[in-house]
Parts: sequence; C-alpha cells; structure tokens
Amino acid sequence: MVDMRIVFLGTSAAVPTSTRGLSCTVIVRGGELLIFDAGEGIQQNFIRSRLGINKKIKIFITHMHADHCLGALGLLQTLSLLGREAPVDIYGPPDFAEFVRANVKILAFGLIYEVRITSIKAEGVVVQEKDYFINCCKARHIIPAYAFCLNEYERPGKLDIKKIEKFGIPEGHLYKKLQSGEDVTYKGRRVLSVRVTGPRRPGRKVGISGDTRPTARLRNFFRDCDLLVFDSTYSHDEFQKAKERFHSTASEAAILANGAGVKKLLLTHFSARYKDTNQLVREAGTIHNNVEAAEDLKVIDIPYTKS
Ligand SMILES: [Zn+2]
Repeated sequence: MVDMRIVFLGTSAAVPTSTRGLSCTVIVRGGELLIFDAGEGIQQNFIRSRLGINKKIKIFITHMHADHCLGALGLLQTLSLLGREAPVDIYGPPDFAEFVRANVKILAFGLIYEVRITSIKAEGVVVQEKDYFINCCKARHIIPAYAFCLNEYERPGKLDIKKIEKFGIPEGHLYKKLQSGEDVTYKGRRVLSVRVTGPRRPGRKVGISGDTRPTARLRNFFRDCDLLVFDSTYSHDEFQKAKERFHSTASEAAILANGAGVKKLLLTHFSARYKDTNQLVREAGTIHNNVEAAEDLKVIDIPYTKS
C-alpha cells in the first residue's frame, strides 16, 4: 500500500492573484514527488507545503508557455541552495531542455546536483517504474502541449489467512512479503503469493490536463481516472474566449470527466477574473457529481478504491 495525495502549489491562469500562484500540481506518491508544471515563483509554495528537498523528484512540463515552465528554474536553484543532492528528472517539450541548459549557463546557477532532461517528442509512455507508469497524450492548445496520466499497476490481492495457515507460516515478515506479491520459502516449501492472496486489486489513475480544449482523445486518455485535474479557465458564459484561447470552461471539464467515467474532478487554472470559484464548481456540479476547486496549498488524498 502506497499513500498518495495531490498538493496544489499554483492554481491561477496566466497571471498570479493575491491568493493564487501560477500553475503547479504535485502528486506525492510514497516518498516521491511528481511535479506537473512549474509556474514562476512556485518554490515558495513548495517550501510552505513542506514537500521535502531531498525526495525523489520528477518534473513534467505540459507546454512552453511561461506560466507553466518559468518556475522550474527558480525551483531548481532553490533546491540547490537548500542542499539537495539527489538528481532531478525532467520531462518536457524539446525546447525545454534548451531553455534550462541556456539559463543554467547564463545565470551561473552552479547546481550541486544532476538535472536529467528527457525531451518528449510523441505520445506514449514517458516514465516506467516498478509499480506505476506515466504516459502522455496530445492536448489541444495554442502551442504543442501534452496531458499526463499516472497509472498504477494492479496490486496483489488481500492475504487470505485461512489459506496461509494451511502452510503453517507464522505471522511476521513472511506475511508481509506474500502480501506484497513476493513468493517465499518456508521450511523448504515454496509458497506462491498468488496461492494465498485474493483477486488482484486495481491501482489508481490520476490525470493532469495542462492547458487544453476538451477533446475526444483526452476523454479516452483519462478513462476511469480516480482523480482528474482539468483546465477550467472560464465559466461557460465565456465559452467563446475559452475556444479562442484554447482553454476549457468548467462545464466542458465536467462533460469530459463524465464521459470518461472520472470519479473525482478537480477544476484548476482559473482566470484571475474569478475571485470566487463557487460559480465554476456549481456549474460543473450540475454535470458531474464529485467536483471541487483546486486552491493553492490544498491537499487531497487519493485513496484506493475499496474492494
Ligand atoms: Zn498555455
């Protein structure tokens, strides 16, 4: 079992407000930080959120608009000044690698840890880990942009105590191994985890849209997400603006989430004109039954589906 939660560091669109910083959403999964976009100044909320400077970090940049990527530089420098030693992995558009390298050189950053940048050139799997993978899908924005999904693999089923007792295994570390899917040997006898556990349980799926119009492609990509963070720059009375600027309205986010069977929808990337996002939540709430507005520093747990 791995704890997972989402922490919003910046939830405003294009311009920061007195209560909202520029785009940045973090999935905290176990001891790892998966950071999606890094708007200017986000390191301040990074510190406020006490996310930890030496955790394993992966940064994903959805597109090359300043309010989504300028802050990566500040974050990298702050982490260095605070003594980070572990490398940071970054995945983003091909121009992002050049942007970071040029700035690190011109600004004489002197980073004390390694920054490894992978350019994303096509849709598909971006990161492959033991128990999850992250893939990307083309979004529809003014410039090339990607949306991302974190997909956990299925987990082993629950330990069946009756079955395990037949093998005479005492409670303890062998139980833990079997529960985690590992096979063990007890008194010379091989015990397969699948023999003493119930049916495998689904992992969690979390989607991050970045800036985009709603599309059928994204609806498929976000299919069955436990939690989806989606562009909700405008309310539906500004639909024309949303269309012209390649963003989404709260209603459109909710329609997509409904069509994709998303369990929980988090609206974010609000135009600075909305002092109060209740209007957007109400609007989306008439379409999807589990909607919330993202707020800077807001934390939302992502539990496993009960089985
Ligand atoms: Zn943008």
